[in-house]
Amino acid sequence: MTRLALKNGSRVAIIGGGPAGSFSAYFLKKYSIAYGLDLQINIFDGKDFLQNGPRGCNLCAGVIAENLFHALEREGIVLPEERILSRLDGYVLHSGEDRLELTEENGSRGTIATVFRGNGPRYSQFPDAISFDDYLLTFARDFGAEVIPQPIADIRFPQDPSQPLQLYTRADEEKMYEAELVVGAFGVNTRLAEQVEKMGFGYQRPATFLTYQTEIGLPSKRIPHKLENRIHVYLPRSRLLRYVTLTPKGDFVTLTAVGHKGLDPKKYPALVQKAVLAGSIAEETASCACFPKIVTSTAVKPYSNRMVMVGDAGYSRYYKNGIESAFITSRLAAKAAVYHGLDARSFADFYHRSALRIISRDNEYGRLLFFSNDVISRLPLFRKIHVQLANAKNHSRSARKIRWILWNMLTGNAPYKKIFFAVFDLGLQVSFLIQALKIVIDRIKKLLK
Ligand SMILES: Cc1cc2nc3c(=O)[nH]c(=O)nc-3n(C[C@H](O)[C@H](O)[C@H](O)COP(=O)(O)OP(=O)(O)OC[C@H]3O[C@@H](n4cnc5c(N)ncnc54)[C@H](O)[C@@H]3O)c2cc1C
Repeated sequence: MTRLALKNGSRVAIIGGGPAGSFSAYFLKKYSIAYGLDLQINIFDGKDFLQNGPRGCNLCAGVIAENLFHALEREGIVLPEERILSRLDGYVLHSGEDRLELTEENGSRGTIATVFRGNGPRYSQFPDAISFDDYLLTFARDFGAEVIPQPIADIRFPQDPSQPLQLYTRADEEKMYEAELVVGAFGVNTRLAEQVEKMGFGYQRPATFLTYQTEIGLPSKRIPHKLENRIHVYLPRSRLLRYVTLTPKGDFVTLTAVGHKGLDPKKYPALVQKAVLAGSIAEETASCACFPKIVTSTAVKPYSNRMVMVGDAGYSRYYKNGIESAFITSRLAAKAAVYHGLDARSFADFYHRSALRIISRDNEYGRLLFFSNDVISRLPLFRKIHVQLANAKNHSRSARKIRWILWNMLTGNAPYKKIFFAVFDLGLQVSFLIQALKIVIDRIKKLLK
């Protein structure tokens, strides 16, 4: 068989116009121009990101990781200020009755940007376009991709493997597109993933479960007062609920709740009320709510001849920075396609291996960190030790270390592996034991009084 490779005039079909779709179009264009190829790139998506509410939304808390923000700027993708709803300067961690404030160590303010993926919550009105996904898609279009506003219903391999793949749109079963390369950037909230599994090349979509998200509108004066320009993270002592976050976005706050696998989504609202302090924003009326799927594993074999899956449909970081994973995987897959070939072997060697190293292996450390965090959240003594150590007024080495760990767990700025080894720092473990002893001795003294 002749080697499968992109040629001048090759057609690329990108399924999905979310971040992974737009980044794929951008990187494919960029690398193909550098390689001296002229590609025809079509992005298929039935969603209109300029609509508000569910019709335009890609179901996410909309926190743009600092690393991603800078990586985008390096590519010349500069998010305009009007698309950024808030610039936040840190997090407040609520664990039981304890509270811990975490801000950027170098004192820089506003490094965390928040956005709406669509054009705002249901019934909201903004004078200009604010959608993050629309901004990226427009960027991809301006860079030479064509956007076809139709979803894809089916993808088929041709009888002759040297021929292009066939795509069918939902609007018209007969309408068929052909492409030398298909990029699956369809995320996990779609039935198309099942169709791709049925194509029989070994693809298995990532494991997911349902989360809960609501958008709460508040007069803007109240939000800074209540949330202090920070993301609030609640770690409840619950076997069902993992965490709840409140993310300020201009006149709105996005509430995101993530439970443990298998949680009945109907239970979310009641659990959230219990977890988030009474009288807080969680009790306000939401303008829209949804149950998006969160990814908890990477896909199995997200590549075949002429086909590669990126973003959530391929490899995504455990519980963190999904949009940054879309950026990383789109870049890796585009590089593999342009410089190495379109056959499964090229994607295995030059896409899968790198994604495995950067994302999948690191996720194993992430899983352990989240597991230990669950244990700590449920044990009052452990919780207290952590909060007291981190809040130590003397800015000891251990206090700085534990704040570094928590900051990077929350922002996703450092790889999980690096955070994991920081946890096992000998000095930190010794401080942990000393603090535990202090607390136990204090309690004994109180009992003896
Ligand atoms: C509750 C929650 C909160 C999150 N918060 C954050 C956060 O704060 N920051 C962050 O970085 N990440 C966050 N994420 C993760 C983030 O949402 C995803 O990782 C990211 O959206 C993945 O991008 P994607 O392009 O791969 O998929 P998506 O964003 O899901 O985009 C897929 C696109 O494909 C389209 N599509 C689907 N099927 C078809 C079809 N058949 N034909 C054509 N088009 C199709 C869809 O319309 C959609 O536009 C969160 C996730 C959840 C569940």
